[in-house]
Amino acid sequence: MDPLQRVVCRGSLRQIQQLLQLMAKLYFYYSSMNAGKSTSLLQSSYNYRERGMHTMVLAPAIDNRYGEGMVASRIGLQTEASIFDPQHNLFDLIETEHTKKTLSCVLVDEAQFLNRDQVFQLSEVCDKLDVPVLAYGIRTDFQGEPFEGSKYLLAWADNLKELKAICFCGRKATMVIRRDENGNAVTEGAQIEIGGNDRYESTCRLHFKQAYFSSE
Ligand SMILES: [Zn+2]
Repeated sequence: MDPLQRVVCRGSLRQIQQLLQLMAKLYFYYSSMNAGKSTSLLQSSYNYRERGMHTMVLAPAIDNRYGEGMVASRIGLQTEASIFDPQHNLFDLIETEHTKKTLSCVLVDEAQFLNRDQVFQLSEVCDKLDVPVLAYGIRTDFQGEPFEGSKYLLAWADNLKELKAICFCGRKATMVIRRDENGNAVTEGAQIEIGGNDRYESTCRLHFKQAYFSSE
């Protein structure tokens, strides 16, 4: 019987609770756009590195706003990142890195672009490698549909935390509007279209509906 099984089988409730608190968790920090996700990611990574621990930052190849292999925040922080494509096995990628130097944390930027298999692989990083994973992503696309990565992170993460952006009206912004050159909300098109932030606006649900359904 391994130590984990022993505590689960014979330990007191308190011992089991303590053990569960020590086990690595999958966190999903979700929001609309411009809520400071990258800033939060970079700050968390920095907190580990400041204490001499290693982190691995992952970013999708799709987003090269700041150059390939970089995660940058709007307030000027940046760090190098390992790039992933939809066909990458993230468990293998992370395990290889973890073998070279023990990772204390894995951080994933733009996690909405993960696919279902990759979210599962991140959960395996927690459960088999015992390394916590912090994923940061946008919950819904410009049509109000959940991104694939966000859908499965919402379903499978141990901890969900909302990072708040603010609509022009002052309410919490939970939705994202994509605007065309005339400023009208776009209702059709590819889910993924990386453009300048000026094409997107974070709004509350009410103002999303007003913009979206008046454009249809
Ligand atoms: Zn609003």
